[in-house]
Amino acid sequence: MLAEEKEMIDIKTVRKDFPILSREVYGKPLVYFDNAASSQKPSKVIDAISHYYEYEHSNIHRGVHHLSAEATEKHEESRKTIQGFINAKYSHEIIFTKGTTDSINLVAYSFGNKFINGGDEVIVSSLEHHSNIVPWQMMCEARGAKLKVIPINDAGELLLDEYRNLLSIKTKIVAIGHVSNALGTINPVKEIIAEAKKKSIPVLLDGAQAIPHLAVDVQELDCDFYAFSAHKIFGPTGVGILYGKENLLNTIPPYQGGGDMIETVTFEQTTYNELPHKFEAGTPNMAGVIGLKAAIDYVNEVGINNIDIAEHQLLEYATEQISVIKGIRLIGTAKEKASVLSFLVNDIHPYDIGTILDRMGIAVRTGHHCAEPLMNRLSIPGTVRASFAFYNTKEEVDVFINALKKAISMLS
Ligand code: PLP
Repeated sequence: MLAEEKEMIDIKTVRKDFPILSREVYGKPLVYFDNAASSQKPSKVIDAISHYYEYEHSNIHRGVHHLSAEATEKHEESRKTIQGFINAKYSHEIIFTKGTTDSINLVAYSFGNKFINGGDEVIVSSLEHHSNIVPWQMMCEARGAKLKVIPINDAGELLLDEYRNLLSIKTKIVAIGHVSNALGTINPVKEIIAEAKKKSIPVLLDGAQAIPHLAVDVQELDCDFYAFSAHKIFGPTGVGILYGKENLLNTIPPYQGGGDMIETVTFEQTTYNELPHKFEAGTPNMAGVIGLKAAIDYVNEVGINNIDIAEHQLLEYATEQISVIKGIRLIGTAKEKASVLSFLVNDIHPYDIGTILDRMGIAVRTGHHCAEPLMNRLSIPGTVRASFAFYNTKEEVDVFINALKKAISMLS
């Protein structure tokens, strides 16, 4: 059944959708295994953005003229597409931001100002990206609250009993990554949310690494906030999403002040616009929003479940192939993983491996992957990370494995 479903993605056709995949690097065909950092863009996304600037551009919301009305309509269509994609109840629960980082900062600031006071606690985990640590740290410092951290085992899985012990009446919010960018661990977010709900504690999910790989249903998950970036799901840079439950978004104050987020302004007092505009101060990234719609339409055409299956098979294949190389140490061996192969080889520095692979046309990422506390927990300086998208192939994995073997023999 899996094999049949894998064939539902016509890999040759799909690869032609992404112009960059046919380029060469140092005279070698590009093997792009840095998708967790940012994924590549299909022509449909690039064309939608060009078309917008060529024929449709005008500032939205405030204009009476045709172009402005049309651009506004497109903007709001995009919001509806995203609402459908993550199954939000209302389109006004979809807030356009600059990206995951911006979305999390918005919640840390607005939710923190409303609900967090001295002695309160915020729970994150050892697996988090800096984007889901530092905004909370800053907020805790400002409000006199404490950051609590769910520990992990050596495989890179959250220790749920420890999590349960951390939850208390002092806990004001739980902020957890859906999928770890450094290790690929898929966290048991349904269970994490259910535990928090028992104590009526809201949960934010950092979905930056989940959204391109897994079907996400925010109502089924029952999360209160969900953050992600367009550029990780084949869309443009500079735009992202914050999903929030209507009642919470209505309760927390605006993050930034400016045009569009107001109802009326006098020098004495300002009243705020309704959702979603209350959180969208200033001229938004309209081209980005339109590009994101094109990206989601594209993912819907390919099918997120087909993507999940194809990537899972690729990850399994790559894990098998790499595991037999002498000296390899896989970092992150959770039972549930998505699209990330992090590893070290003997005592070779990850940077040296990355540099040699690059010369062979293979793009991987090396370093701490913006997860320094995680690297400290694992007592490693960083890893080499190969991260896959559905447009990657087993043949590319073979090229990578052969290149890695060469790199190891050169560096040993
Ligand atoms: N959270 C996770 C898990 C990530 O992987 C990333 C980016 O790599 C971010 C947050 C930050 O995303 P952005 O830089 O698009 O805001």
